[in-house]
Amino acid sequence: MGKDWNLGFSEKEKLSTKLMREFEFDENLLKNHVEEIRSELATSNLFRYGYSQSHKLEDRILLKLPDFESKFIERYLRDQPDGFAGNLDPTSQRDIVSLFVHYVQFTCYNKAELQEILTYRDKTKYGYKGVEVMTGNDSRCQKCSKIRSTKYSWKELDKVPKIPFFPSCICWYSPIIEQRDF
Ligand SMILES: [Zn+2]
Repeated sequence: MGKDWNLGFSEKEKLSTKLMREFEFDENLLKNHVEEIRSELATSNLFRYGYSQSHKLEDRILLKLPDFESKFIERYLRDQPDGFAGNLDPTSQRDIVSLFVHYVQFTCYNKAELQEILTYRDKTKYGYKGVEVMTGNDSRCQKCSKIRSTKYSWKELDKVPKIPFFPSCICWYSPIIEQRDF
């Protein structure tokens, strides 16, 4: 599975899994199945099968919850799909599950990534200067590619936006590292 079990899980893996385990779904439709969906997301995050292109996580969710619905995702796909979401079908339950999974995963990964970057704050001597919101500068994140990457110094952390900006957003956080000559 490509996982070195001797190393155990990284802090980022542990935190993103915990966030999936506790994810709050806004939608009433999902309320009765919150625990099942959280478990699937968290398990897949630890064991990595959610990363593959084979949609195993989506299959498992659909198998357990054949009536899965997400009005939020459906509405987004119908009204304002951006980037890769433009190729998804708002009437396809599988596409809806797929984008739903993407959205929850990116929300949790980004939050865990930001937490990790914040631990670099006291490492300024190594050149860490702050946080950058990196935008997908290709057709996968069209709206954000127009915004361009934005940088925030450690003093501006309260201004760092929460990402993803919308369900199909693929933006990510990166530490800003000062360029230095050695
Ligand atoms: Zn984006």
